[in-house]
Amino acid sequence: MIIQKSTNPRISTFDPSDFSFGNTFIDHMIICEYENGKWGDLQLIPYGPIGFTPAMMGVNYGQACFEGMKAYKDNDGQVFLFRPEKNFERINKSAKRLAIPEISEEMFLGGLKALVDIDREWIPQGEGMSLYIRPLLFATEEALKARISEKYMFAIVATPAKSYYTAPVSVKISDHYSRAASGGVGAAKAAGNYAASFYPTQLAIEEGYDQIIWTDDCSHEYFEESGTMNVFVRINDTIYTPKTSDKILDGITRDSFLKLAERRGIEVVVGNVKVTDVIEAQRNGTLKEVWGVGTAVVTSIFEALGYQGEHLELPRLSDEESFAAQLKNDLVNIQTNNAEDPFGWRV
Ligand code: PMP
Repeated sequence: MIIQKSTNPRISTFDPSDFSFGNTFIDHMIICEYENGKWGDLQLIPYGPIGFTPAMMGVNYGQACFEGMKAYKDNDGQVFLFRPEKNFERINKSAKRLAIPEISEEMFLGGLKALVDIDREWIPQGEGMSLYIRPLLFATEEALKARISEKYMFAIVATPAKSYYTAPVSVKISDHYSRAASGGVGAAKAAGNYAASFYPTQLAIEEGYDQIIWTDDCSHEYFEESGTMNVFVRINDTIYTPKTSDKILDGITRDSFLKLAERRGIEVVVGNVKVTDVIEAQRNGTLKEVWGVGTAVVTSIFEALGYQGEHLELPRLSDEESFAAQLKNDLVNIQTNNAEDPFGWRV
């Protein structure tokens, strides 16, 4: 790895009690370039702009994918990644689907560890605090040709993240737009998936909702995901979540929730989650909770569902009553070294 330390670090200006998530960047970043059929040396360099032209293939044809993960600092100042090998597997799965050359484990995990280590002072400590890390892959060839690019960049950048607390949200169950199609790229963390979700989400916001529950592209009869999260539904004391497929991102938080639910002895059904079954359960009072899960906020609790013009309220459960809150707590305690790690998730 080529290491070029920043000669002008900004860490002394960083106030962990007052910063903006997503546009405060740590002092360094990782980059690595692909050309002539192979990846070059990994470089750890000062964070900052890199020159490209508008003819870069990544921005013209969207050959780009990314990951989202976090590093946590415990009370003693030790730093942990959470299941990073899952992000490594997933970025290569995304890369493969987008015809981007796969990367080695050494590039991904080696790059992550070196970056987090050099900038560990940037990781805020305390409840809900973390460093959000964004590994990404994009086509860099300067060519207006709709074909597979011959040049790429792998990069890792990171931004400090604050408390997970988010107020309960209301979500619109989509009966028109979809985020993924059968045979498409839904299971990849393709940059274009997010671009395509912004317009329908904006429409839902104009209708007074916070985000969308994405349903299948053919019939809109089945739940798929929610916003940029996987979705869980609790009817009576059983929790349901859609089975992953080529349309659903295989979320690491989802997988962790499933394992934690099993450990708690909660009954879990992984399979089709039918919109009409959820609506029916809301009407007959058996629908207890609906929530989204993902790295960013761990859990987002839903307070209402919008469906075909109807606004359906969900019960407000206490933390003791809520499976979502209990599972979130279990997960956060493992991530932040406040509990045993029976699954070996901390790195
Ligand atoms: N679905 C989508 C579309 C996402 O962008 C994310 C966030 N990566 C998730 C689900 C949740 O995945 P994870 O738990 O791995 O963050």
